[in-house]
Amino acid sequence: MNHSMKTYADLHTHSLASQHAYSTLSELCDAAKSKGMSAIALTDHGPGMPDGAIAHHFFCLAGLPDTLDGLHFYKGAEANIMNYDGQLDMADDLLDRLDLVIASYHIECIQPKSIADHTSGLIKIAANPHVDVIGHCGNPVFEIDPEPVVKACAENQKIIEINSASFKVRPGSDAICRKVALLCMAYKVPVIISSDAHSKWQLGDHAAAIAMLESIHFPQQLIINGAPGRTEEFFESRKRERCNK
Ligand SMILES: [Zn+2]
Ligand SMILES: [Zn+2]
Repeated sequence: MNHSMKTYADLHTHSLASQHAYSTLSELCDAAKSKGMSAIALTDHGPGMPDGAIAHHFFCLAGLPDTLDGLHFYKGAEANIMNYDGQLDMADDLLDRLDLVIASYHIECIQPKSIADHTSGLIKIAANPHVDVIGHCGNPVFEIDPEPVVKACAENQKIIEINSASFKVRPGSDAICRKVALLCMAYKVPVIISSDAHSKWQLGDHAAAIAMLESIHFPQQLIINGAPGRTEEFFESRKRERCNK
C-alpha cells in the first residue's frame, strides 16, 4: 500500500471561543507547527449552537495577523445549518469577512429528518456562494444520498470535508465517507482532510481519513491540504475570485 499521503494544514479546528473546546489559538498553532504544517484555519462553531462562538468573535477575527508565528492563518467559521431550506446561523456579510466557511449539520441546531431532507438541504448549501466547504457529510445521523450532494458540489465548485474525527465520534461515518470520497473522485470534487480538533492534542490527527483515502487510491491532486503550498494557493485564488466578483 502507498503510505505517501500527508497533510500540510489543518483547516477545521476549534478554540476556546467554542465553549466545549479546550485550547487557545496559540496552542493550536504550536501543535500545527510541531506537526510540520504550514497553515491552519480556525473554524469555531457559529452562534446558532448554544455553546458556539458569538457573532462578534467572527467579526473581530479580521484584526488578527495573516501569519501567526510563521504559520499561515486563515480566519474561518463552522456555520450551523439551521433548517432544510439551507439557512445558516450567520449573516452573509459576516461570512464574507472570512477566509473559509464550513457549513455542517449539528444535532444541537437542527433535528434530523429524512434522507431526502438532509440531501436537499446540502444541495441548497452547495449553491450558497458564501460557503466553501460542506462539513462532515458522512454523519449517519444526518444520512444523505451522496451522489446528488457531490454533484452539486462539482457544479458549484465546493469542497467536501473528509473529517477524520467522524470515524470515531460519529459512528458509521466511515462507510458513508468512503462512498462520498469515491464520488469525489468520479466528479473531481476537491476535499480537505481535517481533524475537527477541539484541543491541541487532536490537531493534525488525520490518520483515519488518510487510511480510508489510501484504501481507495484517492488522487493526491484533489486534496487541498495534501501537498506543500497547495493550501496557500487555494486561499490566494479564492481571494482573487472574490475580488473579481
Ligand atoms: Zn461540526
Ligand atoms: Zn467542527
